[in-house]
Parts: sequence; C-alpha cells; structure tokens
Amino acid sequence: MIIGSHVSFGGKGLLGSATEAVSYGANTFMCYTGAPQNTLRKPIDEESVRKAHEYMQENGINPENIICHAPYIINLANKSKPEAWEFSVSFLKQELKRCEALGIKYIVLHPGSAVSHTKEEALENICDALNDIINVDTKVMILLETMAGKGTECGRNVEEIKNILDNIIFKDKIGVCLDTCHLHDSGIDLTTFDEYLEKFHELIGIHKIKCIHINDSLNQLGSHKDRHANLGYGKIGFNNLLSVIYNEKLKDVPKILETPYINNYPPYKFEIEAIKNKEFDDNLFKRVEDYYKNL
Ligand code: FE
Ligand code: FE
Ligand code: ZN
Repeated sequence: MIIGSHVSFGGKGLLGSATEAVSYGANTFMCYTGAPQNTLRKPIDEESVRKAHEYMQENGINPENIICHAPYIINLANKSKPEAWEFSVSFLKQELKRCEALGIKYIVLHPGSAVSHTKEEALENICDALNDIINVDTKVMILLETMAGKGTECGRNVEEIKNILDNIIFKDKIGVCLDTCHLHDSGIDLTTFDEYLEKFHELIGIHKIKCIHINDSLNQLGSHKDRHANLGYGKIGFNNLLSVIYNEKLKDVPKILETPYINNYPPYKFEIEAIKNKEFDDNLFKRVEDYYKNL
C-alpha cells in the first residue's frame, strides 16, 4: 500500500516534507511548493533536492509516488478578469517547472470555479488554459481533482472531468485525483464505490486515477460542503473508507490523507496505523494529543 498525508514544505523544503512523512510511518506524501493559500514561492536549490531524494531512498519513499498540490487561489475556469486568469496560467507553468526541479511527477489541481460564467464556458476556459500550459515537453502530469461541487466548482461529477480530459491535446499528460470527501459531498455513495469505479472506467478509464485523497466528511451525502473529517469520525465511516483504500483495482495508486489536525497536532501517524490495522481507532483524539504533548 502506498500511503501518506499532506505535509508542510516550509523551512527545509522537500527534505522537511519527507522527514515529516517518515515520522508518520508513511511511504509517500503530498506537499505544496510553498503556502497553499498564496503564490509566493522561493527558488529551489539543487543540492537540497538531492539531499531530500537521498533521504527518501534511505527511508522507503519512492519519489515516483510523491504528489504536489497547486495553491487554491489558482482558478483556470474564470476569465472575467483576464489578468487573474493569465496569472493563474503563468503561475501553473512555473509550478510545473518547480515540480520538475523537485523530481515530483504529479501535481493535483482543482479544476476551478465558474463564478459568473456558464458551466460550458468555464469548462472551455479550463481546457484553453491547460492546452496553453501542457506541451510536448511537459514532464509533470496534472491531476484534476474531483470536487464537492461547492458554489460554482467545476469537476463535480465524472462527466465534467471527462469533458475536460476529452479536450486536452496531450492526453497522456493529464490524469485524475479522486477525493473521498468530495465524492461523498458531490452525491456519490461510497458504500457502492465499485459502481462509481465502473462508471469512471467506462467514461474515462481507471488507469487515469493517479492519486486518491482519503478523507471522511463532516456532512451528509450530496451536501456540496467540502469539510473534511478524521477517518471514521464523519458521515462516510471507517469501513467505507477502507473499501476504497484496499480496493484491488487501485492498489498501486498513492493514497493521501488530508484530514484535520486535532488540537493543532497532526493525526496522520495514528490514522495510518488504523488503516494498516484495518481497525477504527475510537480513541484517536486522545492518542494524538498524548503522543505529541509528550514528544
Ligand atoms: Fe485539493
Ligand atoms: Fe483533496
Ligand atoms: Zn476538500
């Protein structure tokens, strides 16, 4: 199983991210190349990247499985302020270069929010942007994340994701990242996840799934809210999440936890343990607090 969580990139960059991942017993991770909320980015220095890769090799992390996430404020769907759209496009181009310099193969992207556009226009804007960003030399694969459908979010169902993928010129440089919380909030009942996968396979092809975000959801099926919960502490439930995590058809796909911190402490070490044990941790909150308080 390839499992990890999102980790920070601050201070020590990729080496810091990898060190944090190892402290959780993870064999992969997802990071941003700076703060997730903004687009301020520091230059990447080669020597520190080399050290990070050396550390990963010594600690059982295959760099092929690590994932980057683009900042939230990038919106390729909305062209109503052309400068903002242009900025998103040029930022993503640089972000792909940064991933390449870091030796990261995949970057997860929220397709974008239509705002005042119709859904058709918004999807077209996304494709225009992606076709500008992705070219024959692109070495990093963009993974469109399946979204909860909050507000005017695009990518809220398989059809919308397919619509984008179908219009990308370099199809082998684009893939999909599922997010269990988003699927549930968009109206997919994960007790019948296999049916969803079958539909996904018919319309898009299961081989396009390159990453899965594993989160429980605070809200009910189809709520379109997008509030993540710790595993087993939400409306999806631990066993339904396990059935996604241990799905045979997705066994080589990296699984990334994006569950909330517990009183400012990361829950991932214990959530990963629960996944490996296939057993719900009904004492997660206390265990996390006790562990980090005494560290
Ligand atoms: Fe995301
Ligand atoms: Fe996600
Ligand atoms: Zn989310």
